[in-house]
Amino acid sequence: MQEKGFRSGFIAIVGRPNVGKSTLLNCLLGEKVSITSSKPQTTRNRIRGIVSRPDAQLIFIDTPGIHKPVHRMNELMVETALRTYNEVDVILFLVEANERPGPGDRFIIETLAQVATPVFLVINKVDLVEKERLLPLIQEFSTLHSFEEIIPVSALKNDLGGLVDTILKRLPEGPRYFPDDQLTDQPERFIAAEIVREKVFELTKDEIPYSSAVVIESMKEEPEITRIHAAIFVDRESQKGIVIGKNGALLKEIGTRARLDIEKLLGVKVFLQLWVKVKKGWREDDRMLKNIGIIEEE
Ligand code: GDP
Ligand code: MG
Repeated sequence: MQEKGFRSGFIAIVGRPNVGKSTLLNCLLGEKVSITSSKPQTTRNRIRGIVSRPDAQLIFIDTPGIHKPVHRMNELMVETALRTYNEVDVILFLVEANERPGPGDRFIIETLAQVATPVFLVINKVDLVEKERLLPLIQEFSTLHSFEEIIPVSALKNDLGGLVDTILKRLPEGPRYFPDDQLTDQPERFIAAEIVREKVFELTKDEIPYSSAVVIESMKEEPEITRIHAAIFVDRESQKGIVIGKNGALLKEIGTRARLDIEKLLGVKVFLQLWVKVKKGWREDDRMLKNIGIIEEE
């Protein structure tokens, strides 16, 4: 449905791993949709968040962190991000106030130079630096690309410095794509899987977070409770033991924390059953990547 004067459009959030893309998206939405973590590369999928206002609708896409392809999985993530740049109305290029432009930023800027979409430089984590340090940083980034807007923010402190209004000015008149009360187009089972993976990230270390994937094997809504069976896939037998922990303690903790978050998000009581499975080389396996949503099904 097209209303007069109504604006809508798609906005991609891009940036190196760990700059705060998921935090910014969550801040824009006011609810937990995309998972965050202190370890880089948590976000692997395109997650859309929807901000609805009486006069506009903004649909945000949280791209996977772009970096040099190593595994087949990472290659696909870069391809996805590049495709996204061309499909959106505005690109938010997110950087950190406490870091000068590095190779990761330059790699992204090179790819941004290939698209016609307007790019805003969003300088996040301004709460970590003195105000005087911002101007030199802005000047340095400005020599690398001609940004349409430069907006300092602190996603963590909910200080977005008029970001939404600045974006709005760049959006075309368009339809209301989604119902007003909808925050994301991601299915609930995907969000449930992301929450379990977030807990694996929180509670394990070294290579384990990067070697694990979560697949929801079944999700059944009953009148009183939603029953979820999820599998945590790891690369090696030795990792399985670590994720399970002594007498199953770690897996239990992952399950408890995940269940509480899923209950909050879905607003229902949840029974969550977790398994740990070994699948050697899953990051190179197209079927597995499709299953966890890294390869999109057409
Ligand atoms: P992503 O990899 O770009 O999605 O980054 P995340 O959103 O997962 O954030 C990475 C880390 O940076 C987390 O520990 C966040 O809490 C932290 N972070 C995000 N935004 C801010 C901010 O504005 N200020 C500070 N101090 N930390 C932030
Ligand atoms: Mg993220």
